[in-house]
Amino acid sequence: MPELLEQSTNTSADLDTTPKPRPSFESLGLIEPLLEAIERLNYKAPTDIQAEALPSALAGRDIIGVASTGSGKTAAFALPILQKLWDEPKGFFACVLAPTRELAYQISQQFEALGSAMGVRCTVLVGGMDMVTQSIALAKKPHIIVATPGRLKDHLENTKGFSLRGLRFLVLDEADRLLDMDFGPDIDAILKAIPKERTTYLFSATMTTKVAKLQRASLTNPVRVEVSTKYSTVSTLLQYYLFIPLSQKDVHLVYLANSQAQNSIIVFTRTVHDAQRLSIVLRNLGFAAVPLHGQLSQSQRLGSLSKFQSGSRKILVATDVASRGLDIPAVDIVINFDIPTHSKDYIHRVGRTARAGRAGKSITLVTQYDVELIQRIEAVTGKKMDLWPTDKEEIALLRERVEEAGRLAATELREEGAKNGHRKRRKGDRDDRDVRDRDDDVVQAGMPTKKRKSKR
Ligand code: AMP
Repeated sequence: MPELLEQSTNTSADLDTTPKPRPSFESLGLIEPLLEAIERLNYKAPTDIQAEALPSALAGRDIIGVASTGSGKTAAFALPILQKLWDEPKGFFACVLAPTRELAYQISQQFEALGSAMGVRCTVLVGGMDMVTQSIALAKKPHIIVATPGRLKDHLENTKGFSLRGLRFLVLDEADRLLDMDFGPDIDAILKAIPKERTTYLFSATMTTKVAKLQRASLTNPVRVEVSTKYSTVSTLLQYYLFIPLSQKDVHLVYLANSQAQNSIIVFTRTVHDAQRLSIVLRNLGFAAVPLHGQLSQSQRLGSLSKFQSGSRKILVATDVASRGLDIPAVDIVINFDIPTHSKDYIHRVGRTARAGRAGKSITLVTQYDVELIQRIEAVTGKKMDLWPTDKEEIALLRERVEEAGRLAATELREEGAKNGHRKRRKGDRDDRDVRDRDDDVVQAGMPTKKRKSKR
């Protein structure tokens, strides 16, 4: 069970500071098929955001939830929708707008899991997937549509016979990201195509002015529920660093992978290039590694994630962008191949381990260029990292093989690049823009990759 972020809550109605007893799912008046699913999913009690949002949502109110991924927000909006669907199972019932494809699939999976005992039908409409297949799925009249705004608008304009005029619920999930990604005009168009008489839930990690404007345009007399995530690391997390020259990063990564081979590991890199390259280097050396970054196709990303989730691959090499907002399973070790520039990213990365009271380790590779960054992270977390002990002889023995694997990976990447040419962006396929653009930014801002390679 993925552990939830440390939380504290407050709502506008919550001026009384004495701690309230946490309600149980039963006491909230959820119907039997939902309680069954909750039990099957092993949710013991509502999370903070669920405890705060569910009573008002089940009473039919619009909700603004200030909460991020990991808070249990998806169930906070899915449960009241499913509860209502049980009473009135008619046509397209609810539509959830999400900023990225991965999040859309995750939300759909949660609806299916929570609605499993009531035969809920969901469909996902995201860019990069076939429009015709999606139109066929729409013709089967699913209850729940989870979509990225660009693709939903496309269907509203171009798919014959498709309309959301009977829609009962609209959810705007991760509204701040939706608006950062310039989905505003698409959302406006969608708001015009759905009934004004509906229930709306808006969830956002931050309340920006843009989000407040969207809230005014889309919600009626909402109840505001807030769960603030404390930026801190848990006490069961052991944080280590390795101080090494830039040119020896690869060999140290392989050394760590080798000495920790029995564990599940996520390696975080700053660039798409390194995520791809290192997954090949590790594979060339016999490790079961898969990449996860924004330049993989949608099905490749889902494939990597499911292989890692199932345990058939022990190492996931990911960029921050690809991992943000994803419900990546808990792992034993997080390795920061590159130190993140923002301390918040560090906390997000290491939050993949040491969950639910279990122990976990993070190991950060620090070079001569990263000293200031690591000091900043230590200041934010209020914890000093310990030096990870290394066996110099073993590292020296590995060096030659790692260099050879690196050369092979470089050739493989060159050949692949020549074969594929530059991947052309499909017209209208805008939903992975955040992922790719942000990764590309970092490639430019980071060290020139060629120069780094020639040093090795
Ligand atoms: P979310 O913030 O919606 O992305 O949820 C994060 C994770 O928490 C998901 O894997 C959910 O399955 C899980 N989750 C949601 N509600 C609960 C709960 N009440 N108890 C335990 N886990 C939960």
